[in-house]
Amino acid sequence: MAERVGVIGGGFSGLLCAYLLEQLYGDRVEVQVLEGARRLGGRVRTTVVPEVGSVYEAGVAEFYDIAGNPHLRNLVSHLGLETRPLTGTPYFVACDQVVYDDAGLQALVGARGMDQLRRFWDKGTRLRPPQRYAQAGQPQDNDHPWSGRTFEDVLSELDDPVARWFTAMQCHSDLAAEPHQTSGLFGFDNLLIDHPGYCSMYTLAGGNEGLVRALADRVASPLRSGAVVEAIEATEDRGLRVRIDSAEEGVGALDFDALVVTLTPPALASLRWSDSQLAAAVGAHLRHHDHTTVYLRVTLFFGRRFWADRFPEDYFVSDAFDGVTVYDKSPTPDAGSLGIQSWLLGGDAAARWARRTDEEIVQGVRAAMPGVLSGAETHFLSGAVDRWQGRSGVSALPGGVPLQPLETRHCPDPRWPQLILVGDYLYDSTICGALDAVLWAVTRIGQRLGEAAPQPLSIFSRPNTPVPDDPASGFFLDQAVGVNR
Ligand SMILES: Cc1cc2nc3c(=O)[nH]c(=O)nc-3n(C[C@H](O)[C@H](O)[C@H](O)COP(=O)(O)OP(=O)(O)OC[C@H]3O[C@@H](n4cnc5c(N)ncnc54)[C@H](O)[C@@H]3O)c2cc1C
Repeated sequence: MAERVGVIGGGFSGLLCAYLLEQLYGDRVEVQVLEGARRLGGRVRTTVVPEVGSVYEAGVAEFYDIAGNPHLRNLVSHLGLETRPLTGTPYFVACDQVVYDDAGLQALVGARGMDQLRRFWDKGTRLRPPQRYAQAGQPQDNDHPWSGRTFEDVLSELDDPVARWFTAMQCHSDLAAEPHQTSGLFGFDNLLIDHPGYCSMYTLAGGNEGLVRALADRVASPLRSGAVVEAIEATEDRGLRVRIDSAEEGVGALDFDALVVTLTPPALASLRWSDSQLAAAVGAHLRHHDHTTVYLRVTLFFGRRFWADRFPEDYFVSDAFDGVTVYDKSPTPDAGSLGIQSWLLGGDAAARWARRTDEEIVQGVRAAMPGVLSGAETHFLSGAVDRWQGRSGVSALPGGVPLQPLETRHCPDPRWPQLILVGDYLYDSTICGALDAVLWAVTRIGQRLGEAAPQPLSIFSRPNTPVPDDPASGFFLDQAVGVNR
């Protein structure tokens, strides 16, 4: 008899999980994906705007190519998806100045602040060599001296207030959190996104949703959208029974031998559990792991890319909203054609603005346009707001502190090892972390099928580019300028 595997959630994790289970174990598994929304894809969403004849990214803006961790890149190429590199040195707008090199940064923070920044980055990169960054979220991160400290505390090593403020602002949007809400290690890992020795970025031609669509197209198992899982009953005789409320078929129940639950902590918290011990174990898992925060993606459409001269790269970071990354999502680089800016507000600023109407938020973002840019109001066409909070939020402290062993993280109740939790909140709050979580789950199902040594996942076993022990320079701008100019 085939192992009946229920996959709850039809976002990237659920779809990848179903695809890999089919690829690896064939007819030894019988998979079913249950997605509560009408649409598959979850937080990977490319939205069409017919009025302006274009698409924009409502959720995931870019994919991370982490030196020494080729899994996501291999998956994307296995699926035959065309990629576009995200170009550039990060540009910053701070105190109404544009900063993109050492001289600009020194003008902002002064010679002493600059010296502190260099020392801070040197120390940080020495403590976090690329090989360890490539395995972020693994239990060995507990040994890192910054994992048990808050990011606020680690930033206090910069005693120059402008250098400290600049550094917090630099990664505020990626973190989606304030420095006191996350760990020093996760904070620094998010700074390293700007360091080409650690990470580069790309998007998908035609929109990032191409990734989840490609997976959905290849999955042969039933993908049931509009099927909200409400409760899970675990009994010794029956195994795992899932109660669903389906838009098409009404209320029903499905029995599985194993379940992979790919929900965010708030969505997981909404499930009912028949077994009180299991409910308590999931409750403890949530207390450790639920650090859900708020993102607002605000997309502005303009008649032309009026900012192209000042900000030629694919994104810049502004000190508005305590630090916000602004992506240039225009369909073509032509300055005279449609311009799309995507502002990613995170942390307390996003939580405050989330209480306002869409119109007020769009207005607030227009008002925050850098002073060096003229023409924004003349060329403005319209704006859109996508709210990511609660059940669709991201984690400000993935894995929690301390990081738990993987077995504990994924299987909250040892009595039910076939109930496997998966999600980016267990590793690094990105697609890369979601992928790591799925690989763990798929390997666990393989073990249940009697795979003594789980088969290597051929999709992911292409050669890894070796990464150096140390990046050539600790300071992100040295590398960025060297690479991009
Ligand atoms: C605004 C924003 C920007 C981001 N930017 C990036 C980025 O640039 N790069 C990057 O790598 N990552 C980024 N992320 C993180 C990325 O979106 C996630 O890592 C990834 O999408 C996680 O996929 P998932 O399938 O695990 O979760 P989800 O996409 O959340 O999928 C979970 C699915 O479960 C469904 N569901 C919920 N409850 C139930 C239920 N009771 N029954 C059935 N189904 C249910 C949901 O509808 C959803 O489809 C971003 C996230 C946000 C919010």
